[in-house]
Amino acid sequence: MTNPTDNLRIVLVGTQHPGNIGSAARAMKTMGLSALHLVAPERFPDPEANTLAAGADDVLAAAPVHADLDSALAGCHFVLGTSARRRHVPLPDMSPREAARALLEAAGRGPVALLFGRERTGLENEELQRCHASVGIPTNPGFSSLNLAAAVQVLSYELRLAVLETAVGELASGRPMPPVEAEPPATADELERYFAHLDQALHEIDFHKGKPPEMVMQRLRRLYLRAGLDAREVKILRGILAEAQRMARIARGGRA
Ligand code: SAH
Repeated sequence: MTNPTDNLRIVLVGTQHPGNIGSAARAMKTMGLSALHLVAPERFPDPEANTLAAGADDVLAAAPVHADLDSALAGCHFVLGTSARRRHVPLPDMSPREAARALLEAAGRGPVALLFGRERTGLENEELQRCHASVGIPTNPGFSSLNLAAAVQVLSYELRLAVLETAVGELASGRPMPPVEAEPPATADELERYFAHLDQALHEIDFHKGKPPEMVMQRLRRLYLRAGLDAREVKILRGILAEAQRMARIARGGRA
């Protein structure tokens, strides 16, 4: 069986300082993680990244550089975003410990991602909306923001604890991790296509009645992400939308 941590992507979004990328790679390697993904870093590759990686150059060398978040999340079925403060995005909150356990459990079934934001501004609301939950390291409320690589270290440590906990559990019980489910979970890209379809269908059935659709779409996103849909369920939901669109066309006097 492949190691579930191979499925665990640490995704740094829009990193400004190459030193932080190197320090993050080092933080990951010390905790047994290796799948680093970079989205539009400002300076990379850069000698400063290698200096601060201090021997974790293999993690840096293997790190794909993506032009956008979509490409970094391709194939992922579970995504969490770290944030130093509460945002105006209605997302469930997780502690680092809960997040590490949930990520590891989900990584047994396919690729998952943990997102880290920009040094100056963190993750944008649009990026957080791609996440199933947001993860906050409980810090001093008056001084809540850690250095990016320090935040990667804390979460990598929690992931390490979760791995060790699982390994001890397996050793004690003599049983391996739960078997792979019959139906694969929906990937982030399948979910995005579903949300686009839902948005379109809601317009066609005139659900919003002239009101702005953003709030409803945010709530619906949260609902569907919480449900942990599998690929087949997404197909069924899209089938329902297609039927609703067909009926709306008939009601408008068009042809089925
Ligand atoms: N001024 C930014 C700070 C970003 S710190 C803001 O207010 O969002 C850079 C990144 O480090 C964050 O995007 C997040 O990924 C991580 N980080 C820093 N402090 C954190 C904390 N207390 N909990 C979770 N992640 C944190």
